[in-house]
Parts: sequence; structure tokens; C-alpha cells
Amino acid sequence: EAKKNRHQKSLFFEPCFGERLAYKVELENELRGAIERGEISLHYQLQQNIQHCGIVGVEALIRWNHPVLGSVSPVEFIPVAEETGMIIAIGEWVMKTACRQQVSWAEAGFGSLRMSINVSPYQFQDELFVEKILHTLRETGVDARQITLEVTESLAIRDVEKVSSQLRLLRQWGIKLAIDDFGTGYASLKYLRTFEPHLLKIDRFFVDGIDVEAERGDMVRAIIAIGRSLNMEVLAEGVETENQLQFLRAAGCDEVQGYYLSRPLPAEALEQRLRLKGYPLTTGAD
Ligand code: C2E
Ligand code: MG
Ligand code: MG
Ligand code: MG
Repeated sequence: EAKKNRHQKSLFFEPCFGERLAYKVELENELRGAIERGEISLHYQLQQNIQHCGIVGVEALIRWNHPVLGSVSPVEFIPVAEETGMIIAIGEWVMKTACRQQVSWAEAGFGSLRMSINVSPYQFQDELFVEKILHTLRETGVDARQITLEVTESLAIRDVEKVSSQLRLLRQWGIKLAIDDFGTGYASLKYLRTFEPHLLKIDRFFVDGIDVEAERGDMVRAIIAIGRSLNMEVLAEGVETENQLQFLRAAGCDEVQGYYLSRPLPAEALEQRLRLKGYPLTTGAD
């Protein structure tokens, strides 16, 4: 309980450096073995076509529910996992769990549901990254064409040559790539030429206030134009209002994701939403 209070307090007061460091060390210690203890799970958030609001896929989002610290945000613990190398094991677990879930939904009749999986730039530094993914594909029997990797533009991607050859290999198997948080990262336009993503995800910073601040609206239109000209689909993240949805529809965005349409949900709850919405509303790729 004391730990919990300390954590909550740190949300409201700017903690000093020492306190922050102590909390990080605590997270690091607690994160070890969190998978084995069953504290880690995945939630899923719908991704929808903007014209007819038909469901096109889901994004898997990691959750950590610690018995004392409570629910810890991935924004806090993913960087810790990256610094300590734990991201490799966590990334493998996420990949396997999300692929299994895709297969289970395919068997339940939700066949052409795209599964988007967040991948840390650090995972590309693992020599076995591609092999591990291919292994997971075989092991789970998932249709690789239904898998999209979401990668944030990042300075952590140092060896651009290596990453593009890894992505080329994965693409040969049908795996697709999305650039996450587009517009807030590093060297955006260079990435687009090198990594050939099929999807651009506009960061929610631009969507927030889209309808009140002309500049952000202009940015969104510009990003959509970039996507169009390079033959990519564009998805807007963080849609929270009907106004934002209308704006994006008028601007010619392809897909949307956000609390306005649905929050990230546990697998069972998401499946209920799929049934309720009568998925698939439209015939998918196959
Ligand atoms: P992201 O991949 O850009 O995911 C979108 C984040 O926005 C998620 O936060 C989602 O819950 C949140 N979100 C969705 N709709 C709305 C909305 O309408 N309004 C607002 N305010 N937020 C919305 P979450 O789940 O806390 O994840 C945060 C970040 O943590 C993710 O950003 C991603 O970078 C990272 N992450 C999550 N799961 C994984 C994972 O399995 N592996 C790795 N490497 N990173 C992950
Ligand atoms: Mg993402
Ligand atoms: Mg994002
Ligand atoms: Mg993000």
C-alpha cells in the first residue's frame, strides 16, 4: 500500500530525480518475471475504415497489472524494458500472443481481421528478430498477410540498411509495416522511401485540436497527401470526437482509431463488439 501511494503521488507532484530513479529501478525489478507471473496481457483496439466505419483490424496494446503498483502504463515500462534488453522477451511474448489471438478470431469467423502489433526499434537489433517472427508464424499458423508491424520512427534505428533488409524479408512472407506516431518522430520522409510502409499512422497530437486549430488541420491534410502520393493508406490515431471524425473523413483519410470509436478492450470484450457490429460489414481481402 505504501508503494502504491508513492506511485500515485508521483503522478501529481514533479518527483525529484532520485525518486524517479528509484521508481525506475523498482519497475525494472518488478518487470522481471512479470510475464511468468501472469501480470502482462494484451488489450485490443478497433481500427475502422472512415467511409463506412467497417472494422478493418485491431491493434494489440500491452498491459501490465502489478499486484501492488496497479496498472503501469506502457509509456512508463516499455522504455525500461528497452534499456534493460527485456524488450526482446516481451516482444516475443506479444508477437506470439497476438498471433494466437488472430488465429482464434479467424477460427471464430473473423477471418480478414488485420492484427497490428507494436514492435520496438530495439527488437530489430536482435540478430534473430526475423527468424523468431517466422517461427511464431509457423508455430501459431497465423496468416502472415493479416499481420502488420507498427514501428515508430526513431533514432534507435541506427542501421537503416539492416532494418530495411529485415523488413524486406518479412514483406516476402506477406507481413506489412505501419509507421506509428507519424509526424512526431525522426527523419520521417527518408523512412518512407526506405522502409516502404503500407500504412501511415498520424500521431494523435495532430488529431487533437484538428477542428479548432487550423495549423493542425493543415498538417493532417499534408500528411494525407504524402500518403496518397506514395500509395500508402493513412490512419488517424486518437479520434475522440464526432467533429474530428468528420474532419478526417472530409480530408480523405482512410482509417481511424480512437476512444470515440472504441477503447482498447480485453480479447473477450473486443470479440463481443465484433459480434455486435456484425463483423465483417464488408467483404475483406479474401
Ligand atoms: P501507440 O502504439 O501509438 O498506441 C496508441 C496509444 O494511444 C495507446 O496507448 C492507446 O490506448 C492510446 N489511445 C487510443 N485511442 C486514443 C484516444 O482516442 N485518445 C487518447 N488520448 N489515447 C488513445 P497505450 O496503450 O498506453 O500505449 C502507449 C504506447 O506504448 C503505444 O503507443 C506504443 O508505443 C507502446 N506500446 C503499447 N503496446 C506495446 C507493445 O506490445 N510493444 C511495444 N514495443 N510497445 C507498445
Ligand atoms: Mg501503435
Ligand atoms: Mg501511435
Ligand atoms: Mg505512441
